[in-house]
Amino acid sequence: MIYPIVGYGSPVLRKEAQPITKDYPELKKLIADMYETMYAADGVGLAAPQIDLSIRLIVIGFPIYDEKTDTYSDTIEEHTLINPEILEEKGSKKYFNEGCLSIPGVHEDVLRPDTIVLKYYDADFNEHTEEISGMFARVAQHEIDHLDGKVFTDRLSSLRKTMIKRKLNDVADGRMRTAYKMKYVKH
Ligand code: ZN
Repeated sequence: MIYPIVGYGSPVLRKEAQPITKDYPELKKLIADMYETMYAADGVGLAAPQIDLSIRLIVIGFPIYDEKTDTYSDTIEEHTLINPEILEEKGSKKYFNEGCLSIPGVHEDVLRPDTIVLKYYDADFNEHTEEISGMFARVAQHEIDHLDGKVFTDRLSSLRKTMIKRKLNDVADGRMRTAYKMKYVKH
């Protein structure tokens, strides 16, 4: 089942999402639906608040990049993150151009650490603590922000924020056209 994506300006995107347990109803089905929703919208990550569920659940899926040949493989690297926590930020911070399914039409360079130590539970509720970097670390940090009521534009300089203010207002007013279904939740 494909969910509509909650748009910027909806209060659910500003709420602290709640941890879940393995007894969460129909968790496997929900995770499968989140992957389907993400791929249908051509996204590489999706956090549960973006489908109007204020819980700490994230799906990530991106094509594997081969630096040597500068090409993307047909293989998709997938990660399901439940109750994720960043234990440590490592290495240097890098800029990367980010976008967000909840903020269509806005793409900005965002500064984040390239490497983090991440603790999370997978879809079978096995606990993992891993040092991750590159695309996985980038998308994980963007999505974990969603669980904490933040969006990537919060991390921009005040100058950039001013420059994109009109675009953000257009998104919040539902004036952006998207190839996928969006909704605005006012509760
Ligand atoms: Zn996002």
